[in-house]
Amino acid sequence: MSRYLIDKYQALEAYTPGEQPRDMQYIKLNTNESPYPPAPGVVEAVREQAGRLELYSDPVCTELRDALAARYGVRRENVFVSNGSDDILNFAFMAFGGPRAFFPDISYGFYPVYAELHGIEAHSIPLRQDFSIDPSDFMALDGFIAIANPNAPTGMALGVAQIEDILSANPDHVVLIDEAYVDFGAESCVPLTAKYDNLLVVQTFSKSRSMAGARLGFAIAHEALIADLEKIKFSTNPYSVNRMTLAAGIATLKADEVCMENCRKVVETREATVARLRQLGFEVLPSKANFVFARHPHADGGFLYRQLKARGVLVRHFENPRIKDFLRITIGTPRQMEALIEKLGEILSGTGV
Ligand code: PMP
Repeated sequence: MSRYLIDKYQALEAYTPGEQPRDMQYIKLNTNESPYPPAPGVVEAVREQAGRLELYSDPVCTELRDALAARYGVRRENVFVSNGSDDILNFAFMAFGGPRAFFPDISYGFYPVYAELHGIEAHSIPLRQDFSIDPSDFMALDGFIAIANPNAPTGMALGVAQIEDILSANPDHVVLIDEAYVDFGAESCVPLTAKYDNLLVVQTFSKSRSMAGARLGFAIAHEALIADLEKIKFSTNPYSVNRMTLAAGIATLKADEVCMENCRKVVETREATVARLRQLGFEVLPSKANFVFARHPHADGGFLYRQLKARGVLVRHFENPRIKDFLRITIGTPRQMEALIEKLGEILSGTGV
């Protein structure tokens, strides 16, 4: 930290993203990327735009927003896009977050960072003992609410009816539902945006649409909320989505069935992986995401993480005391998961478990 950093940021603790190592070829199951390549047509679309990089991108992203509106049965005015859903979450905390923000104690690690960044009083609400969200804890709260559904890193999801109860109990505050992982088997709240003007649904192209490296997120909400987000975007960086990413997003939506089929494959692999992990003695939380959250009664989470890493398999481990026994394991291809199970078997037998 330099002596020039202004006071309000001195205590800020930045988010720690998952490792992106360059030292060796890992089986990379640590940042919830898709194991499948971008949709057909994406590479060509990107290449075409790469030859036109002297020109700015479309700041209102008309074509992409229209394609998203058609895909989700809403109007262009109900759609916002920006540089990854992290960008949108940041804008949402900035726009709607004061003076208080509520989110589960175990959830996406970026929420408390945004709260701190924008000087918002953060209230974390404990998950139940079984790591589920208790909707009754989110009734009539006096501030902005952010819930990841499915939640991360647990993978557990609430139903739409439960979210609707939260929305109707908090009519004077924005309720952000972060659906980064919704395409892997959870129910989306997008249809509720027609009924609740306080609902902001945020999704991403990073996971279900194989575009993590392109950085593209979107939000669907009542047009007044979208206008507020546009105001923030146009007050920071109007060209937050570059030409290549816009083109990739449009091409991806044209081949959306391929992406949704990839999601079905991931779900199938997830279910097979859960069964294998349970055979090895793991407790696995019920996941509706492209990752599972698992712990072993006789092996420390940090130990398993390090042992897997030494064997070329990268998973995510969190130091937070409540979840330090767990590993978050991204679902890769069946072959990658086979390798994971094999290595875990080796490690566990080595410890005499
Ligand atoms: N929300 C949740 C719950 C996530 O896990 C992630 C991925 N780290 C994001 C949002 C951000 O995704 P992106 O910025 O790649 O769209």
